[in-house]
Amino acid sequence: MENCLFCGIAEGKIPSKKVYEDDTFLVFQDIQPAAPVHVLIIPKKHIATMNDVGEEDFAMLGELHRVAQKVAKELGIAETGYRLINNCGPDSGQAVYHIHYHLIGGTKLGALVESSDSHAI
Ligand code: 5GP
Ligand code: ZN
Repeated sequence: MENCLFCGIAEGKIPSKKVYEDDTFLVFQDIQPAAPVHVLIIPKKHIATMNDVGEEDFAMLGELHRVAQKVAKELGIAETGYRLINNCGPDSGQAVYHIHYHLIGGTKLGALVESSDSHAI
């Protein structure tokens, strides 16, 4: 997909700090970490949002959980805990329209819902 930031990162055209890579997935450091551990897990295939996931993609996204589990272990947050977050669409604040999962940990994370009209991660 042309003009997609994360396709550019997946293809190595845009530099990133890689944490894990295989034929299907790439994991790299978030440029603006929200916690001591904050990496992004992406499929190399361009899928814009969760809404665009097709029947043929679900098995692959299941495998993404295997990668998340492995990376969490390698980054030392498996036992202390972490969040795996997908933002989908405007209300979520999704900024990059190439599906990705934030793997966040390394500190005590705030409550998911802080009040009735706002939220934290
Ligand atoms: P979203 O809000 O779409 O779920 O999250 C996008 C994430 O991508 C943000 O956490 C942001 O810091 C990260 N990000 C944006 N541009 C870049 C970039 O060029 N490189 C890296 N490594 N992360 C980026
Ligand atoms: Zn893309």
